[in-house]
Amino acid sequence: MAVKTIIYKTYGECRNSFLSSALDFEETLDHEREHFDKAVALGYNPVYGFRVILDFPPVILAGLVDFEGRVPEGQDLIDICLAPKNPGEHDHSLAEKTRSELTQQKNNPMPRS
Ligand SMILES: [Zn+2]
Repeated sequence: MAVKTIIYKTYGECRNSFLSSALDFEETLDHEREHFDKAVALGYNPVYGFRVILDFPPVILAGLVDFEGRVPEGQDLIDICLAPKNPGEHDHSLAEKTRSELTQQKNNPMPRS
């Protein structure tokens, strides 16, 4: 992900920009909660987080759900990615990548001893 730094001349400009940030916190939290709840339903230990540039003022880029212990893969990961009503661009691309990995595994199964 490309990260861009924006500099302001005054506290007021910076404050206005920050407060009218494109990130809708309520929508973001609701979205992440749908990932989170699906992960819990599938038996994982998800945690909530935010991706942040730690500077003054700190800039919150995105919400996220991470995992403690077992990390979902395969169909579980696809289900968690697509759990929200409106999956994001990243959700769709991760689900798609995982799906093509699953298809490859099916076509080229690991030899069993
Ligand atoms: Zn998402």
